[in-house]
Order: sequence, then C-alpha cells, then structure tokens
Amino acid sequence: MGGGRYRLKRRRIIRFSGCNIGLGAFGRRGCGWCDSKKRKTPHAIKPNPDYLKIVTPTNENLRFVNPVEPSFIAEWARRLYSPDTHAISLTGGEPLFQPEFLASTAESLKNEGFKLYLETNGSMPAHAARISHLLDYCCCDIKDESAGAAENWRKLVELELETIKILSDAGVAVFAKVVVTSNTKLENVEWYSRELSRINCPICIQPVTPKNGYLPPSFQQLCIFTEAAARYLGSENVSLSVQTHKFLGIL
Ligand code: SF4
Repeated sequence: MGGGRYRLKRRRIIRFSGCNIGLGAFGRRGCGWCDSKKRKTPHAIKPNPDYLKIVTPTNENLRFVNPVEPSFIAEWARRLYSPDTHAISLTGGEPLFQPEFLASTAESLKNEGFKLYLETNGSMPAHAARISHLLDYCCCDIKDESAGAAENWRKLVELELETIKILSDAGVAVFAKVVVTSNTKLENVEWYSRELSRINCPICIQPVTPKNGYLPPSFQQLCIFTEAAARYLGSENVSLSVQTHKFLGIL
C-alpha cells in the first residue's frame, strides 16, 4: 500500500498485518514489488505477528504482545494526536483482511473523533461495504497487470472497481491508485481510466519504487500514461504520486 493525493497532509498510520493477495487468494504470491519480499516487512503478508509495534514521533519503539483490543489502538491514537493530524490511515498489508477487528477499531477511532483514511488493495468489496459508513477517505488500488499479483488479473481489477463504486456511493472521498512500471501497457491504463470515468473516480499514477527487478517507466512513458488517463477523466482528476516516506526515510 501507500501513496496518494492526501499524502502531503499528515496522517497517523495504523499498519495491519496480513494480505489476501500475498497469501495466494488470486493464484500468485502477491505483487512483485511487495515490501514483504526478500526483506524487512514479512508481516505485510503474513498475519498474526507476535507483537504490536508502536513508533512514536520521537522515534521510541514500543512493543505490546498481540492480540490487542481495538480500544487500546484508539487510546494510543489519542495519545499520539498532534494538531496537524489530518486523519488516521488504516493501511497494511491489507486492512480488510481482518474485517471484524478493522470494523471494531474503526468504530473506536471514530468515537475518538478521528477522520479515517483506508488504503486497500480493493479485492474484497463486501468487507469494504461493511465499514463504508465509518470512512472519510480511501485510496483503492487498481493492480496493474505488470504487478504479477493475480492469475486472473482482470477479475481482480473488476473487484477493485466494485470496491471503489461501493465506497463512492457511500460518500467516501475515494480515488484509485495505479502503480506503473516500465512494463505497464498503455491499453491497460486506458482501460482503468475508462472504467473509472464511469464511476467518477480520480486516478493517481505512481511510478514503482525500484525493487526486486522492477523499474519505473521513463518520463516519456509516464507522460503518455497521464495524457491517456486525462483523456477519459479530465486533467483535474489525474495526479502523480511517489512513495514519499521512502525518500524521507520514515515509516
Ligand atoms: S496488495 Fe500490498 S501487501 Fe498485498 S502483496 Fe500487494 S503490495 Fe504486498
């Protein structure tokens, strides 16, 4: 997950462990560039880590034995609040992979008065529907074919579009994020944009952060993609993002 139009506003991040796509729900072992592969965050895919880690703004690392209660998460969100907190980001892994815990956590956070921002791979529309009334913002993935995340990649994209429609109809400010690579096909960007235009959803195009052999598109390719998207969605509904936290060396 990560990236998006609201990134310049400061969010507190709650990172859920486990991801259905990474665990093979679509016949492959996740996106080729997933952080869980080869290195530091295996919990992005694997559920049930032994402990919860809290990193404070002063870089303290605190550990608590799992499982924890949703009220515990809300209590820590309140303790770590600062006036520039725009929203609480629910990210992963895949937050919707733990629908019961996510719903209870979202309710606890709402009761504390926080705005909620969901970052999801979009592959579980029924789970998204269940918490739609609690969300303010959502960044929903459209997985590009070059991610290699699914045997039936078109089916995955259709589920993602369904999630976007459900959330948009519920009044959530939702946008689609597509991570593009040097192997992304123009016809696919056109397909996503055409479908998104039918449900009035903006698109955010994010060049992949080089990893596991994946390379970002050239500047020229990127311009071709944004132009194609704008042809369907209008220039005001097309944006670019990068993984700013990686450039800044933060979580
Ligand atoms: S959806 Fe996210 S967490 Fe899941 S495999 Fe892809 S990059 Fe990893």
